[in-house]
Amino acid sequence: MEVKIAQNAGFCFGVKRAMKMAWDELENKGENDTYSLGPLIHNKQAVDKYKEKGLIEKEDLENIPSNSKLIIRSHGVGEKVYTESKSKDMEIVDTTCPFVKKIHDIVKDFSDRGYEIIIIGNSAHPEIIGINGWCNNNAIIINKVEEIDSITFNPTKAYCVVSQTTANLESFNNIVEKLKEKINNLTVKNTICFATKERQLSAIDLAKEVDCMVVIGGKHSSNTQKLVTICSKVVPTFSIETKEELKKEIFENFKVAGVTAGASTPDWIIDEVIEYLKEI
Ligand code: SF4
Repeated sequence: MEVKIAQNAGFCFGVKRAMKMAWDELENKGENDTYSLGPLIHNKQAVDKYKEKGLIEKEDLENIPSNSKLIIRSHGVGEKVYTESKSKDMEIVDTTCPFVKKIHDIVKDFSDRGYEIIIIGNSAHPEIIGINGWCNNNAIIINKVEEIDSITFNPTKAYCVVSQTTANLESFNNIVEKLKEKINNLTVKNTICFATKERQLSAIDLAKEVDCMVVIGGKHSSNTQKLVTICSKVVPTFSIETKEELKKEIFENFKVAGVTAGASTPDWIIDEVIEYLKEI
């Protein structure tokens, strides 16, 4: 079977960088215990591999002993985590994606200058919780344009709006337009990262060239399932988490298979699937 791989399949730049930094740290960790606050990414196979290598996962800082090493995940944390971990003499390995770090800097800067901060995104997402932690957790968080009517804005204040990196551009623009009707002094910072969009566009391009598509990634991963949906509109598409789910018989009528993967799928899982398909 001929196998073609989509450009931008799997980890984006920020996650790839973070996972490599964490792995390098575990390879050279010596005697010190190394912790992460929550799972490094939402991929069980990858998380298990890092745990086997010695990474210890904790949900909050209180449960991490002083003097240990703390890996900060790619979607970043609030300012308090840095100050508290320093006060516990922890060594920080900061794998925050540079695009997310840039949002922290903007929020800190504008907040220090007296601006009110508005974040467009999902308030429960760790990236948003982290960003909010750079303006004393005082940001107004808006997920949908309809929410704006129930918010009271202070006409004497200046506001700065940023977005979650994975926000949808159309939704961001709609919210900003509506905010402009309500706020006179509004600074807009479009902080959307286009890694997700690029992954989707590459998947569509590849789907047009092949007989079927295999999309690798979590069944509950929204970005993976979005890839499945858009590829299914072009060719028969199979959604799998690992190569074990593949059956040779389903590929009997296909000569060329395309492969793409969601944002949390490590390269080694993609490689295993490619090798399996090539052997058919
Ligand atoms: S900001 Fe973009 S590059 Fe960075 S981790 Fe998020 S999706 Fe990846």
